[in-house]
Amino acid sequence: MAEIVVSVLVDAPRHAGLTPALSYRSQHPLEPGLLVRVPLGRREVAGLTWQVGEAGFARTDELREITEVADVLPPLNADWCALVEFTASYYQRSVGEIALAVLPPELRRLGRAALVDRIRRLHRAFNAAAGGPVASEPVAADGEPALTPDQSAAVAAIGAAIGAAAPGTTLLHGVTGSGKTEVYLRAAAHALAAGRQALVLVPEINLTPQLIERFTRRFAGRRIVALHSGLTPAQRLRSWLAAQLGLADLVLGTRLAVFAPLPRLGLVVVDEEHDASYKQQEGARYSARDLAIWRGRREGVAVVLGSATPSLETWQRAEAGRYLRQSLPERIGGAAWPAIRLVDMARLPKATVGLRAETRTPALAPQIVAALHERIERGEQSLVFLNRRGYAPVLQCGECGWLSGCPHCSAWRVFHKQDRTLRCHHCGLAAPVPRACPECGNPDIAPVGRGTERLEEQLAALLPEARIARIDADSTRRKGTLEATLGAVHAGEVDILVGTQMVAKGHDFRRIGLVAAINPDSSLFSSDFRAPERLFALLMQAAGRAGRDAASGTPSEMWLQTWHPTHPLYQALARHDYTAFAASQLKERRSAGLPPFSHLAVLRADAKTVAVARAFLDAAATAARTLAESAEVMIYAPVPLDIARVADVERMQMLVESASRQRLQAMLRAWLPHLDALHLARGDAAQRVLRWAIDVDPLTI
Ligand code: ADP
Ligand code: ZN
Ligand code: ZN
Repeated sequence: MAEIVVSVLVDAPRHAGLTPALSYRSQHPLEPGLLVRVPLGRREVAGLTWQVGEAGFARTDELREITEVADVLPPLNADWCALVEFTASYYQRSVGEIALAVLPPELRRLGRAALVDRIRRLHRAFNAAAGGPVASEPVAADGEPALTPDQSAAVAAIGAAIGAAAPGTTLLHGVTGSGKTEVYLRAAAHALAAGRQALVLVPEINLTPQLIERFTRRFAGRRIVALHSGLTPAQRLRSWLAAQLGLADLVLGTRLAVFAPLPRLGLVVVDEEHDASYKQQEGARYSARDLAIWRGRREGVAVVLGSATPSLETWQRAEAGRYLRQSLPERIGGAAWPAIRLVDMARLPKATVGLRAETRTPALAPQIVAALHERIERGEQSLVFLNRRGYAPVLQCGECGWLSGCPHCSAWRVFHKQDRTLRCHHCGLAAPVPRACPECGNPDIAPVGRGTERLEEQLAALLPEARIARIDADSTRRKGTLEATLGAVHAGEVDILVGTQMVAKGHDFRRIGLVAAINPDSSLFSSDFRAPERLFALLMQAAGRAGRDAASGTPSEMWLQTWHPTHPLYQALARHDYTAFAASQLKERRSAGLPPFSHLAVLRADAKTVAVARAFLDAAATAARTLAESAEVMIYAPVPLDIARVADVERMQMLVESASRQRLQAMLRAWLPHLDALHLARGDAAQRVLRWAIDVDPLTI
């Protein structure tokens, strides 16, 4: 009996020593990229056949046999396998871990027979819908608007790229409402007309239904599937199969969709490319945007990055000519950009600014209240946002100064008035508000500061005629409440929408005439060098919520309640001048040697005590300094995270930096085995870190 040795990837972390792949016996040769089931220890697990340099070394009589081959699916192609290998290597993970983690969980669970059934059902559903849209309701074909000259230029450039041998990446720079989505639709039409598939990535699950609706209306009769973590396991498998079998023409999804197998891929769109949610924050900390660009280059596919406020990495590449840049400088229909009004808190009368002694309520600028009132009189809506949920960030005892700290975290417990709890937003600890100060028994404990709950209460007191709704993580916890509140806003049943940054993103509100940001200052002086970039993007996005309806007549406005009205960031915002903001930030980054002019990675360590975390990082630094690969790599001293302790775990990090991406990569690769060894060498469990991880191109530091 001819016996063949096949390499199989299973889901195992790098330090399990199972890299790059395990060897199994097979009766037949198997090409790489096939889904299989194999025995592993006493379990049977899903695996993928893989191309490994030197397979077939082991004695076959010692090897176990592949249990089952899911040969009902075509093998994942070489491009997909290359993407997985690149991701593993760049983000310092094992190939097996990436390859299996990016498959739908249901695919890994099901055996061949069940898969045959699922595929049959998928074909049946698609055939039933043949000639019509996949959506169950009949959909009218969307009329295509005549493009503006700027849109035409962008579509022509992207269309040309789709047909080119090395299409490259295009940055589509345009504010909210400038017609970017229309450009995506036309670009997708180009790809589809050429018989290719299009992949469209959006940052948030909440935004997928709107986008799907728009694409479905435009591409009636085409097969459009969604791919994100909000789907049921069965739906996710269905979408994935539709992509892999080449049945779906369009895949719309969040960051995990970048790994969708697309045998006919012709276009990748990354909407809101600057958004932080493209970066996975745990496990393999990949950037879906960066992988999309890599994938585009490897597969010879056009990539479009869209944003009103591109990440500085992207902007720098566009400036350097590495990306094509297409701008949509005007809003469709000539809607004016809102006037930005800065309220200088330092110039308000003392009585309004100071915390009124009896209530200790933080001030709300009277100008803003008056402007809100005016909008209500005119029957227009307003959006007021504050990036802090709960009623007040902390409770304080007026007598002894006690503050409502979390016993398990280096953070305050937030006062939630609705259910009278003190809740830690980091570890989740929740307890009823004490009747009296736990330290001295004084019954006078009071909220300090303001969250969205308190802002809502304050606005209700100042504007009794207003119908107010709130959107934040608390008010939308129950399923369906977010949709219900948004529905009420769209139906005109709400005058003022209060919320956290959740309300600033994406939603196409038609009647908002005023946007107000209450206390945006906190991120101006953050230790994170990306904080200004994020704040600017958030404020631009929030401003974009106002005045989308050019017909409404009254000019729209955005108010900022700030202590630093002359700050260059606000000044650039007031001029709607992203370009100037980006230029000044890039100048600072260049002189400080920060990204995009250098490349970073962070080694993070979590431990029960600061001493253990520090010892691990110190030892890691010592090991790094012995490596030849560390030449031209800067190794910084360990520092605690901003919130150092969460749920009784101390969290520290150490930055490594290099002007050269290749050098940093080489150093990380050489460093990893030392880190594994270091971790294992500490015999006593108490001396070991709980977790450590490398984050390449970290977004927050
Ligand atoms: P963005 O994605 O930049 O926010 P959209 O593509 O959603 O912008 O366009 C904003 C609004 O203008 C949408 O309602 C869209 O249907 C409409 N629109 C886009 N392009 C045109 C056009 N060329 N002519 C008329 N309306 C357009
Ligand atoms: Zn007290
Ligand atoms: Zn806590």
